[in-house]
Amino acid sequence: MKKIVVAGGGHGGIAAASLLAKQGFDVTVYEQHAETNMGHDWTDIFAPGAFSRIDMPMPDPSLYETKENMTFYGPGFHTALRQDIPAEKLEIKMERRDIYAHIIRCAKENGAKFEFENAVLAPIVLGDRVAGLRTEKGDVYADLVIDACGLDSPVKKGLPAVCGVNADVGKNNQFYVYRAFYDRATQDEVQDKYKVCLFAENILGIGWVATEADHTDLLVGRFEPFDLEEANRTANYYRASNPSLGTKVVRGGQFVKIPVRQPLSKLVCDGYAAIGDAAYMTVPIIGSGIANSFKAARMLADTVSEDTDGAFSAETLWNYQRRYYKELGNSFAVLACVKEALTVFTPAELDYLFDNGVITANDMSIDADTTSLIGILQGNSIGDYKKKVMGAIKDKVLLGKMLRVGKKAAGVMSVTSRMPRAYTKKAVDSWVRAYEKAISKSIQES
Ligand SMILES: Cc1cc2nc3c(=O)[nH]c(=O)nc-3n(C[C@H](O)[C@H](O)[C@H](O)COP(=O)(O)OP(=O)(O)OC[C@H]3O[C@@H](n4cnc5c(N)ncnc54)[C@H](O)[C@@H]3O)c2cc1C
Repeated sequence: MKKIVVAGGGHGGIAAASLLAKQGFDVTVYEQHAETNMGHDWTDIFAPGAFSRIDMPMPDPSLYETKENMTFYGPGFHTALRQDIPAEKLEIKMERRDIYAHIIRCAKENGAKFEFENAVLAPIVLGDRVAGLRTEKGDVYADLVIDACGLDSPVKKGLPAVCGVNADVGKNNQFYVYRAFYDRATQDEVQDKYKVCLFAENILGIGWVATEADHTDLLVGRFEPFDLEEANRTANYYRASNPSLGTKVVRGGQFVKIPVRQPLSKLVCDGYAAIGDAAYMTVPIIGSGIANSFKAARMLADTVSEDTDGAFSAETLWNYQRRYYKELGNSFAVLACVKEALTVFTPAELDYLFDNGVITANDMSIDADTTSLIGILQGNSIGDYKKKVMGAIKDKVLLGKMLRVGKKAAGVMSVTSRMPRAYTKKAVDSWVRAYEKAISKSIQES
């Protein structure tokens, strides 16, 4: 029986373990934390349809509720862009620990094994093939290693250059996040319960203030690390305009990181496939990654089962990458251009886009499942996009930036559309170079 090991109990890794164990593979997940201490002490929002993609039932309805529409603000808080997503398309909100308990239980029922409290230290590489994992409790060899160890995966970082998997996250490609649930200081009715503030105080990043029945959820995400003193100062800043935000931290209160970038340029090599945050599968800008990881797990499991010889080589795993980019990655690469654009606009320019209808509430109807912000760039064509921004923006400097965003996105789309159908090292290396070059082209300079 072919042996598969999963490094880290990330959502996608557990989902892949579940699907592959059900198919008859011998699958073990190696996770650093105890089973009772999985995930963070807060809630997540994601598209519930993702459970059916990984053949798991919906959790008990008492464990989740429907999320509400969000309201977006530019730096100056002049204009509120209110999402209007129909109720049946809204995502669900669920405790992260309950999500983990549900998927671990389903994976175990399908035959997946777990080794908790066993940290992965590095990959075992023989020649140019990943052959297993070095863990705290000893070496394990396998026919395939699935890397679900998150953003800073020691497996990905330990791969030799010959594998061609680039572990460098890159500048402005991860959010440093502080998240805490505070008590509710007032019980007054709040009009916009889920607020997302872009570049408040003219600091590059986002703030999320969500008023719940018994607490207010604050998330501060920035492109540069910050400390607790700064987090507390920022909480005070939000308190001034959000009286429901109390001062007592009732849950969370941790610093974490979220990737906000294009997907990894090469998801596979011989004996290895990356999934979840290890492969940067979050939606750039908003950082949702759970549903995408589930979908990727299905694509990976299908690809693995099609490899009837069990070679699990870069060549046979390549279809996983093709599937992922076709369904999600190509769009996320374009959204990564939008994210970069946000870092080159001045706060006044960003306000201009909000205030003059260049960015609309419809554009912000972005969630983990759809990427409608992409509409800003794609429209029906890049030509439409050009027409739209040229008609709406009078300021020449801002117009120039917007046109360069469109040009860059068109360049990225052109490269992603040329991803090799079949794997040859030469063709894939050349594509990876072209993709990384298109992505790294600066909107400022191009
Ligand atoms: C504050 C915050 C809020 C978020 N909100 C949402 C949301 O609302 N909706 C949404 O869809 N997404 C959200 N995300 C993103 C989401 O958490 C991830 O995209 C998703 O969990 C997929 O990441 P992952 O499971 O691959 O990685 P991770 O969540 O990082 O999980 C990696 C797993 O590997 C384990 N691990 C790491 N290193 C080792 C090691 N050396 N040895 C063994 N095990 C190891 C970790 O303990 C962990 O269990 C949020 C992220 C953060 C930080």
